[in-house]
Amino acid sequence: MFIDYETFERRADSVRAEIAAACRLAGRDPSGVRLMAVTKTHPPEAVEYAARYGLEAVGENRVQEAVGKRALCTAPIRWELIGHLQSNKAALAVAHFDRVQSVDSIKLLTHLDREAGEQGRRLAVLLQINAGNDPAKFGAEPADAPGLLEAALAMPNLQVDGFMTIAPLSDDPGVARRTFAALRQLRDELAARTGAPLRELSMGMTGDLAIAVAEGSTLVRIGTALFGAR
Ligand SMILES: *Cc1c(COP(=O)(O)O)cnc(C)c1O
Repeated sequence: MFIDYETFERRADSVRAEIAAACRLAGRDPSGVRLMAVTKTHPPEAVEYAARYGLEAVGENRVQEAVGKRALCTAPIRWELIGHLQSNKAALAVAHFDRVQSVDSIKLLTHLDREAGEQGRRLAVLLQINAGNDPAKFGAEPADAPGLLEAALAMPNLQVDGFMTIAPLSDDPGVARRTFAALRQLRDELAARTGAPLRELSMGMTGDLAIAVAEGSTLVRIGTALFGAR
């Protein structure tokens, strides 16, 4: 049995309270941090709940799963891809997602740009950076970020909104803090260098959302705190 809407609502209220508290501590306006519901592995009801609650977007990490789920959902909400994408699935991703957060190579950029052109649309993307230098994570290495961004900004059918990262798993909260601070710093440098606004910083999950907000996150991606353990 999946959770009922009232349970979801209570949990979403408490996640929003946690975001607001972190914003207060950091002297930030809570309207500058959006909450994305990560619905991977959960049934279509999870997407319906997120829409009914008023969230703008859901995150899915596998293309095939999202395509199946989206066919069963009528809720008006944006779908974003947050998981690793192979170039040979670029066409499917462009057809079914409003934004791809997991762009980490020039090869993938090229495929997405070509497919977006063929499908007659402009695709919003985030560049995923392995800001914690975690060998277990996807994402471009920070040293490759300038070249990746330069290539992305030159693609006619892509719109680069900013960056995404996943902090390494660690018992030490300092690891997540340093990871998020490094991404924010990289964004600030690259925005200054290129003149592109690069406003979006997609950082923070259930376990590290307060740290991410403190370090400048504009979008937290929350699954477990909303829907329970997977
Ligand atoms: C699964 C996932 C999340 C959500 O993680 P929780 O810890 O369940 O909140 C966020 N971002 C990405 C990229 C994910 O794959």
